[in-house]
Amino acid sequence: MVRSRLHQLALSPKFVSHQFRCIHSEERKWQSVAAATAAAATTACAAAQENLQPMNTFKYSDTIVRLAEPHQLHPKPDAAGLQFGKLFTDHMLKIEYHKRLGGWQKPVILPFENIVLHPAAKVLHYAVELFEGMKAYRGVDGQIRLFRPDMNMERMNRSAVRAGLPPFSGPELIKCLSRLVSVDQEWVPHSESSSLYIRPTLIGIDPSLGIACTESALLYAILSPVGAYFSSGFQPVTLMADPQYTRAFPGGCGDRKMGSNYAPTIHVQREAMQRGFQQVLWLYGPDEQLTEVGTMNIFLYFINDNGERELVTPNLDGLILPGVTRMSILELTRGWNEFKVTERKITMSEVIRLQNENRLLEMFGAGTACIVSPVASIHYKNLVIKFPMEEQENPIYRRLERALTSIQYGRVDHPWAVAIS
Ligand SMILES: *Cc1c(COP(=O)(O)O)cnc(C)c1O
Repeated sequence: MVRSRLHQLALSPKFVSHQFRCIHSEERKWQSVAAATAAAATTACAAAQENLQPMNTFKYSDTIVRLAEPHQLHPKPDAAGLQFGKLFTDHMLKIEYHKRLGGWQKPVILPFENIVLHPAAKVLHYAVELFEGMKAYRGVDGQIRLFRPDMNMERMNRSAVRAGLPPFSGPELIKCLSRLVSVDQEWVPHSESSSLYIRPTLIGIDPSLGIACTESALLYAILSPVGAYFSSGFQPVTLMADPQYTRAFPGGCGDRKMGSNYAPTIHVQREAMQRGFQQVLWLYGPDEQLTEVGTMNIFLYFINDNGERELVTPNLDGLILPGVTRMSILELTRGWNEFKVTERKITMSEVIRLQNENRLLEMFGAGTACIVSPVASIHYKNLVIKFPMEEQENPIYRRLERALTSIQYGRVDHPWAVAIS
């Protein structure tokens, strides 16, 4: 539904102005509902911008490439021992947006450099910012592939609309990113446990303190070679579940990859570490719904009331970031047709009951950075809820990790893996 709306948003000016009017008449309803799937058209300013220039986007064919001089190139690191997001490649992509110049400007690929901003730039005051996280994988055949990049582009555009930042053509950005990766292709590790992380970012840079629509923005992308996300490797993690904290709330933007969602989590993550746990299990509401783990979507595998095996993940109710990995796991496991797969609310009391009845099988987080991350235990109030992951003969999380990496590293041919030329 989101997909088709966004599509129409980009294609039809009439649809946009109609949508724009609807927003006003339904404002109250929108405020009281976790409008997860309808958010593509929620901000009046983005809709108004779209209305002026329904097809405004940059084009890959306009891209200017300025290569680094040989002396500006950095030595490539060893694939082993890479830490997440500490090291960057030789080039970056920049695309500016200026309303007064007609909107999106030409994409530029250039040597990696610092960004200079006006001290009043909106991003620095009101966190007018969003990002994406995707990866380029060097396959067993040497070919470099992206994984479902169209889904990242759709999500990025939905975040842009919610942040009052200008939307753009996803396919055009995929082509620009592919070219950037191709320029820095020597940085894509020759290893099946490493990859090149791609961080597209969109920020509001107007030199003005008004809290208003962005008229100047910068879309840029940087690349970082990465190894295993957790230094402990594939070891199950321990989680702190403390109901006094929440990550997202109905009507908010927890379902958008906006920078403003992450700063407030850092303190809580530190508290978890200080209490001796590795990650935060984010709860929400009086019924203590399990929403996400760290910056991953969460899955629970258990024996349901009918004695069947069931894999469940929270439904996209506005609190949940619509992960590409989450969606892929749902599609893969539904295709296996071996157990029940559901999207619905999970609460702490349900997990505790399942534990008491010995019906918990596995819990894991899922996201691009780590693919899947098994959970060893949840620490909640005075309770410890343990998952008997290693008692499973062929745990689901391992099978999923193998299935997804086989697609990403080209061990199998699959339409989700998009080769860059
Ligand atoms: C990015 C992210 C995810 C995972 O999304 P993927 O597309 O699978 O990488 C899950 N939760 C949060 C909060 C995130 O920021």
